[in-house]
Amino acid sequence: MHKVSASNQPTPEEFQRRLSDLMRHLQVPPPATGATQPGFDRSAESPEADVATAAFTFARKPRDVKAHLDRFVIQQDEAKKVLSVALCDHYHAVQAALAGRATPNYTKQNIILLGPTGVGKTYLVRSMADLIGVPFVKADATKFSETGYVGGDVEDIVRELVRRADGDIARAQHGIIYIDEIDKLASAPNSSGRDVSGRGVQTNLLKLMEETEVPARSPQDVAGQIQAMMETQRGKKGPATINTKHILFVVSGAFDGLDKLVRKRLREATIGFAAKANAAADAERVLDYMETRDFIDFGFEPEFIGRLPVRVVCQPLAVDDLFHILKTSEGSIIRQYEQDFAAYGIEVLFRDEALRRIAERAGEEKTGARGLMTVCERVLRDFKFELPSTGVKRFVVARELVDQPGAALRQLLAEHDREGRAVMRQLVQEFGERYAKEHGLILRFTDAAADALVGEALEKQLSVRDLCGTKFKDYQFGLKLISTNTGQKEFTLPAEAVAAPDKVLSEWVVASYRKEN
Ligand code: ADP
Repeated sequence: MHKVSASNQPTPEEFQRRLSDLMRHLQVPPPATGATQPGFDRSAESPEADVATAAFTFARKPRDVKAHLDRFVIQQDEAKKVLSVALCDHYHAVQAALAGRATPNYTKQNIILLGPTGVGKTYLVRSMADLIGVPFVKADATKFSETGYVGGDVEDIVRELVRRADGDIARAQHGIIYIDEIDKLASAPNSSGRDVSGRGVQTNLLKLMEETEVPARSPQDVAGQIQAMMETQRGKKGPATINTKHILFVVSGAFDGLDKLVRKRLREATIGFAAKANAAADAERVLDYMETRDFIDFGFEPEFIGRLPVRVVCQPLAVDDLFHILKTSEGSIIRQYEQDFAAYGIEVLFRDEALRRIAERAGEEKTGARGLMTVCERVLRDFKFELPSTGVKRFVVARELVDQPGAALRQLLAEHDREGRAVMRQLVQEFGERYAKEHGLILRFTDAAADALVGEALEKQLSVRDLCGTKFKDYQFGLKLISTNTGQKEFTLPAEAVAAPDKVLSEWVVASYRKEN
C-alpha cells in the first residue's frame, strides 16, 4: 500500500505522479484499421502532425559564418573561428545524413563555451542559428532535476525546440540547444554545496547529446497523454518522437576555478622542465591549455565531457570593446533606443563621448555587455517616460547627460518650455493682428496678458489660438460699441481681461457711455 497524505487522499502532486507513472507503462491499443477520417486536415496540428518540411540545405563556409558573426559580435575572434568551423562541419554532416549519405566516422561537434557572463556566448550561438535558419532554444542547467519531478526534465528542452520550430519536428531535429550554467552540474568532491543531482542531470543530458527519442508529449503532461491516447484509439497516428541525433548541443558556463586546475596540472606535469612549464602555467590565457582531464577534475563525468569535443573560450570585454559594441554592433542597444524614441517621432543623437562614458560605467558593473543595458536603462528611463508626452522632437545624449540624467532632462524640458512659450506669445500677438484685419479694430495684449493666455493654454492643453478665439468671441460687439461711443480704435488687453473677459468688457462699455456724456 502506498503511503498517501494524512486524510488518505492523494495530494494533487501524488495524483499527478501516479497518473504519469501509469501513462508511462500503459499499453496503448493499436489503432483500429481504416479508422482514419477522410479529408482530415492534419497540417494545422502539432506536434503530432506530419509537417512537410523543405529539404534542409547547407552551403556555408566558415569564413562566411564568421563574417556574419562579425556584424553583431565584437571581439571573441578565436571563438568565432572555432564556432564557425564546428557549425559548418555539423550541418554538412546533417545534410549528408538527411540526403541518405552515410557518415560513419562523424563525431557530433557539440560545443562547450567558457567565459564570464555577458561576453557574447549566447549571442554568438543565437546569431549562428539565425543565419542558417534553424530553431534555437536556451535553458539553464540549474533548472533541471535528475528525476524531472522537482525541476524541469531535460527532455522538456527538446520539446521546447519543437515549439520554437512551430511544431515542425523535422526542423527541430536539427536545431540548436544551448544550456547555460553547465559548470553548476559539476560535483567535484572538494566543492562544498555540491549539487547531488548534478551527476544525474549530466547522465540525462548525455543521452540527449548521443541519440535518443524524446516523446513529443511530456509524460508529465497528463492531459496531453490522455488526449494522445484518445487520438490513437480514434485511429490517428501515435504520438511522435523527436530524435536528438542531429541536434547540436552547446553548453556554457563561467567555470570559475578551472584556470587554477589547469595551472596546477601544468606545473605538476612538467617538474624538471621548469622553464617551459612555467611559461604555459603563468600564461594569462591559461585556459588555452585546458584538457579533458581538467574538466574531470572540475567534477564532470568523463563520458559527458567526452561528448563535447569543441571547446571555446570567450574573453572578458574591456571598456573599449563595450564602446565598440554600442557604436558598431548591428545589434547595439543604441539602435533599439533610437527606434523606441522614433516611435514617438523623437530623434536622438548619441555622441561618441557619451557612448564611451556609458561603456566606462558598464565596465564597473562587471557583467560584460549586460552592464550596457543596465546603464542605458538607468540613464534614459525618465527620458523615455517624459519625452513622449512633451513636444520635444530631438535631443542629444552628451557625456553630461550620462552622468547627470535628471539634471539634463530638467534642462531639456525647461529649454523646450521656453521655446514653446515664446512661440505661443507670438501666436497671441498674431491673434491681435488678424483681429484688426477682420474687425477693423486693433487688439493688443500686455506682456502679462500674453503670459496668462500661454499659461492657461498649456495648463488646459489647448491651442493658444483656439483659446483666444473662445475667450474674446464676444469682444467685437462690445469694442465696436465703445468705438462708436468714443472713437477709440486701439485696445490693449490687460491680464484681468484674460481672467474675466466679460467683466472687463462690460466695465469698458459702461465707461464708454460715461465718456460719451
Ligand atoms: P553570455 O556570454 O552570458 O551568454 P550574452 O551573449 O547573452 O552573454 O550577452 C548579453 C547581451 O550582451 C547580448 O544579447 C548582446 O546584446 C550583448 N553582447 C554581449 N557580448 C557581446 C559582444 N561581444 N558583442 C556584441 N554584443 C555583445
